[in-house]
Amino acid sequence: MIIKENQTFCMLKPDVIKRNLVGKVLTEIEKHFKIIKIESKQLDTLTIEEFYRDHKEKFFFKDMVKRLGVSMVIGCILEIQDNKEKDIIGKLRKIMGATNPGNAEEGTIRNMYALSIDENSVHGSDSLDNAQREAKLFFEGI
Ligand code: GDP
Repeated sequence: MIIKENQTFCMLKPDVIKRNLVGKVLTEIEKHFKIIKIESKQLDTLTIEEFYRDHKEKFFFKDMVKRLGVSMVIGCILEIQDNKEKDIIGKLRKIMGATNPGNAEEGTIRNMYALSIDENSVHGSDSLDNAQREAKLFFEGI
């Protein structure tokens, strides 16, 4: 699986599924992106640890891994079809809003739907390399 420069990876976290907000969050995403691949699955601990490997040393790592594994999540590859758009990664992160929903701008997904920094509804890759790594891990496994 190859992620192109006009694509990125996004994941709806368990708090969205638990509160029946999948449709609402995907509606926000679809205002800006075409969903070209989507799948729901429950990730195992090893996969989640690998997914969040950059945060391995953080104090919140263990809890975060546990939280992401409590139910299914929804992974998507998103695409921008306007050739003039350059910053695909930044665009998704902008509509997601700040990591801590208390700091997220009005109208962003996290401002509207996230509960806390621990249950902040969405993941969006922060670079093309990570989008590639995360999408491969999500859709194809370790
Ligand atoms: P994101 O790209 O905005 O999701 O943020 P990061 O990549 O920095 O962090 C990944 C996830 O770790 C975030 O979405 C949060 O759920 C969690 N996280 C990040 N920083 C903190 C923190 O300071 N405290 C806690 N409890 N969780 C955090």
